[in-house]
Amino acid sequence: MTDYKRFKCTKCGEENPRKLQEVPDKTQVLYYSMQGTPVYKKHIKCGNCGNTFDKS
Ligand SMILES: [Zn+2]
Repeated sequence: MTDYKRFKCTKCGEENPRKLQEVPDKTQVLYYSMQGTPVYKKHIKCGNCGNTFDKS
């Protein structure tokens, strides 16, 4: 099933899901896994203008 959430760039308005990539925000650690590796909060990066923004 394709159940992609639609995101929209807050800067340029890009809505193409191919251009909006989910990337880890390494400044925001959500928690550490049992192996001790950090799990980062994800945010969306716009391939059009380079802006990053939070999922909401
Ligand atoms: Zn953009």
